[in-house]
Amino acid sequence: NARFFVGGNWKCNGTHASVEKLVQELNAGSVPSDIDVVVAPPFIFLDMVRLSLKNEYQVAAQNCWVKSDGAFTGEISAEMLMDTLVPWVITGHSERRSLCGESSKFVGEKTGHALDVGLKVIACVGETLDQRNSGSLWYTLDSQMQALFPNVKDWSRVVIAYEPVWAIGTGQVATPEQAQEVHAYLRTVLANKLGEETAASVRIIYGGSVNDGNCNELATMPDIDGFLVGGASLKAPSFLQICNSVA
Ligand code: 13P
Repeated sequence: NARFFVGGNWKCNGTHASVEKLVQELNAGSVPSDIDVVVAPPFIFLDMVRLSLKNEYQVAAQNCWVKSDGAFTGEISAEMLMDTLVPWVITGHSERRSLCGESSKFVGEKTGHALDVGLKVIACVGETLDQRNSGSLWYTLDSQMQALFPNVKDWSRVVIAYEPVWAIGTGQVATPEQAQEVHAYLRTVLANKLGEETAASVRIIYGGSVNDGNCNELATMPDIDGFLVGGASLKAPSFLQICNSVA
């Protein structure tokens, strides 16, 4: 069984004071040693969080640029993350796809570059409510996945996050059955391309309105290998409970 993975995506939230408090609260708690817990603060707090969080936790960037250093004003490169000892990066989050116009092709290239430079990647996929209702659920997910294959050489450093857009920040969590159905499909897409063994080893985590009340049931599903938590990751007691309820 793949090692359980809990990510906390802080998104564009926080002040130095609130981040310091959250770090203190996380440090006061503890998480099982047999799971990966990775928090993703905004870039500007990333080094501060990395240096102050205890080593039961790892850090991720929420994004990076698609290419190496250069004339890309306002961007942060994967190389800079490596240099800052940040091990993980999130790519293809739906907010970047929808608000910043990132295409699946771009996300695929960015994912490949981040991996080539040495980072580990949490690559996000997921459908909108329209896509689900209009019957293009599987097509959407498949095309997001297919864009990764030509770029990813080392799947051991990739976690796939399934985040249905309609469940993000809405309080409308996918049912365990809905999530399991998609996770099983994503596993099949991986298996068709990479073989059963690799497919079984890639962690597929669920994100979208996960909280300390719904995580247990989701975690029992065979193809759910963890969570990517947004809102609830900003509250240490909730996040710690999510990390501890899954073991
Ligand atoms: P919420 O948990 O706030 O729904 O956000 C999920 C998410 O987008 C994590 O990346």
